[in-house]
Amino acid sequence: MLANKDFLNSTNKLFDKAIQYTDISPGLAKRIKVCNSTYTINFGVKLKDGIHTFTGWRSVHSEHFEPAKGGIRYDIASSQKEVEALAALMTYKCAIIEVPFGGSKGALKINPKNWTEAEIEKITRRFAQELIKRDLINPAQNVPAPDVGTGAKEMSWIADEYRRIFPTDINALACVTGKPPQKGGLVGRSEATGRGVQYIIREFFRHKDDYQPVGLKDGLAGKNIAIQGFGNVGFHAAKFLQEEDDCKIICIMEHNGALLNPKGINVQAAKNFYMQKGTFDGCSEGVFKEDSASFLCMKCDILIPAALENVIDMSNAPDIQAKLIVEAANGPISFEADEILLKKNIAIIPDIMANAGGVAVSYFEWVRNLRHIRFGRLEKRRNAYQFETLIAAIETMTGKQMPEKFKDQLIEGSSEIDLVRSGLDDMIREAYQKVRLAKIENSIPDLRTAAYKIAIDRIAISYDSIGL
Ligand code: NAD
Repeated sequence: MLANKDFLNSTNKLFDKAIQYTDISPGLAKRIKVCNSTYTINFGVKLKDGIHTFTGWRSVHSEHFEPAKGGIRYDIASSQKEVEALAALMTYKCAIIEVPFGGSKGALKINPKNWTEAEIEKITRRFAQELIKRDLINPAQNVPAPDVGTGAKEMSWIADEYRRIFPTDINALACVTGKPPQKGGLVGRSEATGRGVQYIIREFFRHKDDYQPVGLKDGLAGKNIAIQGFGNVGFHAAKFLQEEDDCKIICIMEHNGALLNPKGINVQAAKNFYMQKGTFDGCSEGVFKEDSASFLCMKCDILIPAALENVIDMSNAPDIQAKLIVEAANGPISFEADEILLKKNIAIIPDIMANAGGVAVSYFEWVRNLRHIRFGRLEKRRNAYQFETLIAAIETMTGKQMPEKFKDQLIEGSSEIDLVRSGLDDMIREAYQKVRLAKIENSIPDLRTAAYKIAIDRIAISYDSIGL
């Protein structure tokens, strides 16, 4: 696996490759590419065995829209370069799905497994204080979300810390997304990135011209999928693809071993086992293998890396056998590996589209926090009344009763989660369609370069409008 500095190099090389398909000036291209600022912080926390010093970062890659948006990662391998690469990806991702955010990212160099929940809370609150006082957490300027090693709990501690510092800010809850639903979060945010992965794969399989050239047949049902990383994103993607699209999850790779079953793993059962034991060893859902990473090269229809960056590099790219790779993780394929895979005629749905579901639903959560009212609240009863009237009119005119099943569905209307999923599906479909069109119209060989082109063009227009 490559070092983190190569992740930033890879991201920059992908940007440079896409620039040839735009007509923006070299000066503006550089302005868009470079990270605006990175704040490094070393802070002390008094824990039961003494004072510990932690290092964290918050990078703002772009402020062409504010707030800047991006997750906070807890990972002992994190570094400044990694955070800067991830912040750049956030900028492009937000541009592709057309949410009005700049790009940001944060990380804390810590192994969360080494600390108790109470300690993690104390560390998180201290980290948040440092970022809040510099407006690096702020509803109008910089809004974090969960990423590797963080989740709803950490986000609710951050929101609480912000509210304590600014008790009269009526929009305080919008300072962070990915909060638990009972603390201002949005139902559907925790599943959103995995859900977005499912939606984009569905969209890919709606376009014969995209799946047939790489040797894939119609329909998702029965497709063999190998997935790496069984955390928030990997688990949800695998679960939805299995339960709702009849895919076969034939391999799940974790950091400490893989689970294999050519007939398909029951994802929820595997998750229950893994949560309890912390390993797949002994799980009756399949065969356990220690050498997890080698299964990235197994024969399958779809490979979904959903763990960390640079897991596919020059060392294993020539051996990859999947027909389609869907980058649920950020940056799982190095620049050089990307070139090799494209020559091997493997389709790749890039990270800046594939995992954009998280920031899409974060956008809904942020908007909901600022509106102070749940989606659908005002119109739900009005819509139900209109449907009742329509059904009564149809029944009167035809003299026939509408089946109860259809009546109930019409009158029940949409819950908030229905609306969230509908909005997410729409954003993901539209993003994919626009990127594939840009690929065709500009004779761009791959989806990633087309996605970067769209993002760069939109950001350039945005800078242009402010006179840069
Ligand atoms: P997570 O911490 O919930 O899960 C990551 C999982 O990967 C963990 O189970 C971990 O044990 C596993 N893992 C780590 N190293 C591994 C290895 N070498 N081999 C196999 N498994 C390994 O994190 P997540 O939120 O699911 O994020 C996963 C990826 O998706 C990251 O690249 C992240 O940046 C990206 N992402 C996450 C979100 C989100 O909403 N959480 C949004 C967009 C992108």
